[in-house]
This record gives sequence, C-alpha cells and structure tokens, in this order.
Amino acid sequence: MMQLPELPYDKSALEPHISARTLEFHHGKHHKAYVDKGNELLQGTGLENEDIETVIRKIAGDSSKAALFNNVAQVWNHTFFWNCMKKGGGGKPAGKVAERIAADFGSYEKFVEAFKAGGVGQFGSGWVWLVDNGGKLEVMKTPNAENPLHHNKKPLLVADVWEHAYYLDYQNRRVDFLSAFVDNLINWDFVEANLG
Ligand code: MN
Repeated sequence: MMQLPELPYDKSALEPHISARTLEFHHGKHHKAYVDKGNELLQGTGLENEDIETVIRKIAGDSSKAALFNNVAQVWNHTFFWNCMKKGGGGKPAGKVAERIAADFGSYEKFVEAFKAGGVGQFGSGWVWLVDNGGKLEVMKTPNAENPLHHNKKPLLVADVWEHAYYLDYQNRRVDFLSAFVDNLINWDFVEANLG
C-alpha cells in the first residue's frame, strides 16, 4: 500500500514561485487521488507488497494494467518532484553536478535552454527530466505518467508540466513556470544525491 508523503516543506515555502494554494491542490488533491486510486487498483494484483519502483518497472507497457501504471507512476513522479524543490533553490549549481552539466551540455546555460525547451515542447500533460543515461546527462520529456525508470535511465531532476502544476499561478505561461523552477526552486543537493 502506498501512502501520501508529507511535503518536505511548508505549503507556503515556495511562494511567490509556487503558491500555497497550488500546493494545497497539487499535493492534497491530485497527488492524494493518485495514491488512493493506485491503492484501489493494486488490490488483487499480487503486487500489493512490492515497492513502488518495482511495480512501475513490472507493469510498464502492459496495456491491461495501464490505469494502475498511470496512478502508481504519478505517485512516484510527484514524490520525486516535491524533493526536487526547496525554498531559496535554483540558479547555477556547484560541485559534481555542475561539472557533469558542463561536460555533457557544454554549459549551465545550455542545460537550462534544453530543459526549458523540453518542458515547453512536451505537448499536453507530462514531465521534463534531467536523467543519467548510462553515464551521460540528458534532458528527457515524458507524456502523462511515464518516467525514466522503465526506460533504464536514472532520474536526477524533474519538473511537472501538467497544467495543474502551474495554472493557478501562471495560467497558460508554462515557460514562466519553468523559468521560476530553474531560477528559484531546484534543490541541487537532491540532484547531486541522485547522481550516486
Ligand atoms: Mn502534478
């Protein structure tokens, strides 16, 4: 059984970039609904006691379990997303992450350009990720609930580009949300920890 995790910060901690009202709905309603529906759909599958990453890898691509996949992957994606942000985050990273970004993208600025282009270019709902693909950092976009785990890529960072992530604060201006995310919210310590 999955549980809705607590946000790793206060609901107003990310203001003015993400409002408490957005987090109230995004975490308290959307994320919670994925947990509740996912738990309901897990019943009787024999996967009830597996950890969530195992479930995602096992059922990805199985069309008979598409609804379960969508809900379980959305639970994982949102928990990961909350941890990708912190108050006073964003801007240029330092240390190992900075070195890897410079090596694989050419510069921090080129990474930002690629990340925002990935997020804006995701048609409809989805996610934009920074992943480690066999030792090389790349930007990856995924539709709906999909994530890098079942593509054998290691997720390092994600931004949610579903409209529910930004519409109350930015309306249709997804690029402004992505700019605020990159400049003011990214928790680079979390990204560095994910590098392993
Ligand atoms: Mn979301």
